[in-house]
Amino acid sequence: MTRNDEGDAADTMPAEETSPAQPGQPSRESAFPGMVAAVYAPRCDGCGDCAEACPADAISVLMLAEVDPFACTGCGRCVAACPRQAIAMQQP
Ligand code: SF4
Ligand code: SF4
Repeated sequence: MTRNDEGDAADTMPAEETSPAQPGQPSRESAFPGMVAAVYAPRCDGCGDCAEACPADAISVLMLAEVDPFACTGCGRCVAACPRQAIAMQQP
């Protein structure tokens, strides 16, 4: 008699693991919920301190700083980092 081993083993799918916070991912905590940073161009000298401080990589600096409002998490770090008070939080 031959045995056929197919059949009985229940296929258990490995549980999907939810990944922890990604490195470099900004904290979900926002100092200014629902707000985004905005640059007041006449005060900006393009030093880039705000971009360095931004954990969401939401600021690009060519001549002046520019905030991507879709990437900004409202943490407010750029406001604190700007030596010229050229960034403020505002409603999107
Ligand atoms: S830190 Fe202030 S002055 Fe410097 S690039 Fe950013 S907004 Fe402009
Ligand atoms: S508030 Fe400023 S530092 Fe924070 S995510 Fe927005 S642009 Fe970046």
